Amino acid sequence: MSATPRVAVITGASSGIGEATARALHAAGHSVVLLARRADRIRALAAELGDRALAIEADVTDSHSLEDAASRVRSELGGADILVNNAGVMLLGPFSADRRDDHRKMIEVNLLGAITATEVFLEQITSSAAGDIVNISSVAGRTARAGNGVYAATKWGLNGWSESLRQELLPGVRVTLIEPGVVATELPDHITHSETKEAVAALYDSATVTSGDVAEVITFAITRPRHLAINEILLRPADQV
Ligand code: NDP
Repeated sequence: MSATPRVAVITGASSGIGEATARALHAAGHSVVLLARRADRIRALAAELGDRALAIEADVTDSHSLEDAASRVRSELGGADILVNNAGVMLLGPFSADRRDDHRKMIEVNLLGAITATEVFLEQITSSAAGDIVNISSVAGRTARAGNGVYAATKWGLNGWSESLRQELLPGVRVTLIEPGVVATELPDHITHSETKEAVAALYDSATVTSGDVAEVITFAITRPRHLAINEILLRPADQV
């Protein structure tokens, strides 16, 4: 174990990077709180991990469900030390009026969801002796391209907000931005624009970086000694342009 055990809340812990991060932080000796809408998945993961794992069904677009989760974390575990804002959707496709629902969903989950979860857990994290907030952004938070406009807007938004939050919360709470390239997960499965879905699925089928790789990076970043803050990590598959 690398440090004093802490309580880590992970949004979107039912699959991909969130699930892998929960596994990695649990293996490092921390307690993990798994938040997601697919209750069956997070309950199965909590049961598999055993002690120090709590599954709470929560939707990041519903502030009441996050507030209920925060109350349980406070009463059952004494409060959160770490918040990983990971829940996200990537509904890529050309910008068009037909895709208003996709556009709004990405903003509501990726950007407002992270902001709301942070509002709700802020008091717990700032009262911790060792608080960390991790925002999962993307290469798309730095580079926009045709077909990813609103997704990129959500991640650019996360990047800007994270830097401001970092300055406001120092020195007690560290804020870390993680910007992965292509990682093999279920992320493209929800794309509604069929041509884009096919193209992105092909790219993801050959992805070499795993959720476990990203989880290892996150765990490294937040388990450094408290005088050191790793604020931003951009990581890509070695062959990604
Ligand atoms: P997954 O689709 O495997 O995971 C997405 C997670 O988000 C799921 O656990 C899902 O849980 C959760 N989620 C979606 N909507 C909501 C909601 N309304 N409330 C709560 N949870 C929600 O994909 P990844 O692991 O790849 O994605 C995780 C993060 O990583 C995202 O923010 C994504 O943008 C980012 N990322 C991923 C990259 C990649 O290539 N895979 C690259 C760069 C960034 P459930 O459906 O059960 O609610």
